[in-house]
Amino acid sequence: MGTTDVIQKRQLIEEILEIFPEKAKKERIRHYEVMEEDNKQDCSKCAIKSNVKSRPGVMTIRGCAYAGSKGVVWGPIKDMVHISHGPIGCGQYSWGTRRNYASGMLGINNFTAMQVTSDFQETDIVFGGDKKLELICREIKEMFPLAKGITIQSECPVGLIGDDIEAVAKKMSKELGIPIVPVRCEGFRGVSQSLGHHIANDAIRDFLMGRAELKECGPYDVNVIGDYNIGGDAWASRILLEEMGLRVIGQWSGDGTLQEIMTAHKAKLNLIHCFRSMNYMCEVMENEYGIPSLEYNFFGPTKTIESLREIAAFFDETIQENCEKVIARYKDEMDAVIAKYRPRLDGKKVMLLIGGLRARHTIGAYEDLGMEIVATGYEFAHKDDYLKTIPELKQATILMDDPGSYELEEIAQRLDIDLMGAGVKEKYVYHKMGIPFRQMHSWDYSGPYHGFDGFKVFARDMDMAVNSPVWKLVKSRQKKEVTA
Ligand code: SF4
Repeated sequence: MGTTDVIQKRQLIEEILEIFPEKAKKERIRHYEVMEEDNKQDCSKCAIKSNVKSRPGVMTIRGCAYAGSKGVVWGPIKDMVHISHGPIGCGQYSWGTRRNYASGMLGINNFTAMQVTSDFQETDIVFGGDKKLELICREIKEMFPLAKGITIQSECPVGLIGDDIEAVAKKMSKELGIPIVPVRCEGFRGVSQSLGHHIANDAIRDFLMGRAELKECGPYDVNVIGDYNIGGDAWASRILLEEMGLRVIGQWSGDGTLQEIMTAHKAKLNLIHCFRSMNYMCEVMENEYGIPSLEYNFFGPTKTIESLREIAAFFDETIQENCEKVIARYKDEMDAVIAKYRPRLDGKKVMLLIGGLRARHTIGAYEDLGMEIVATGYEFAHKDDYLKTIPELKQATILMDDPGSYELEEIAQRLDIDLMGAGVKEKYVYHKMGIPFRQMHSWDYSGPYHGFDGFKVFARDMDMAVNSPVWKLVKSRQKKEVTA
């Protein structure tokens, strides 16, 4: 693809945005880039606008700070009870929908797939919810004696009515003898899930960081940071690290525990998968405890092998030799997966719109199968994410920030894509358009996709979506309607 393709893609974006009022059009165009290989040397030339407020009424795909804190960071910590503090809705809609797997007995020592809420009524809005919150903390302690701690996840009204959840947390923590963490993640704060991540990280720093000690420390102790164990992703990653001889002392936060969070400061290295949601804590651990961090990518064999070697290089020869053995052990299996699926997926055009990481992190896995990313974008990424994305993109790829539903649908149709990867809000629209679709948040109830074992599932799922016979039926029906 040459310069003409770049120009054509820019025209395509401009045409699509033509439908908006002048002010909206001018603003939205700044959220797009079309990749030019020549500019890759100097990523700072990327002028894409990000992490700013969505335009009202454009049907953004974004969520809120509560989703970023309770839904993403805190919710997966399995032995704490997370109170959705406010009216019933936020906790209900986020109940069990994010597939952060956790072992244990639900309701006994694992509280992840539960909805615990203060269920605000009008009286709580008028007179405040602090007294009710105290009562709920006592009830939790009584009903769930094995819960190791409680978090208070604020929903919109809490910050608006002037409640002092910090004071309640302090008082009840003393009374009940367990950590109680107040989190100011009301949905009106920030512009997306992203500030919720930051607020949640800061709450970990302020209330839990460094509060416990490990029985014994070893030279190969690491934390896996920012893997939420969707469909078992963190487990599929952890086995590779352990086969290599490392000891994972903390999983943040998929299948994670309070103890793992409190002892994480004893690790020798932080391995960070989701940079967007947990880079803040890695920075804290680096500054306060001198723990370095290393960003890695376990999507697809190419990136997994690259990452395993980078991780091993941080340690001694024993780990480095083990690393090569692990790679050799899985090599044939990976080659067989590629030999089976690549001929079925080669050259297929993919478009992605995901949250803050996978829009760049999954590209390597698609490319291992011969697929081509023609457009990709984030809901809530920042400038540093875009700078990390650019080197992964080919000439004339469209890069998008916070696109609304209309923009996405138009781009998908005009690029004539073979596969769309986004979320559940998008899925059925694309099915109706006759475009194969895979959910790239929930893995469409499949997974894991991380690591070598995950790639087998990933390749099978992409093939199943793209080459399903159902698409031929949808298209022939459309044709009949047109010609009738
Ligand atoms: S914006 Fe407010 S009401 Fe909506 S989900 Fe977030 S916290 Fe709940």
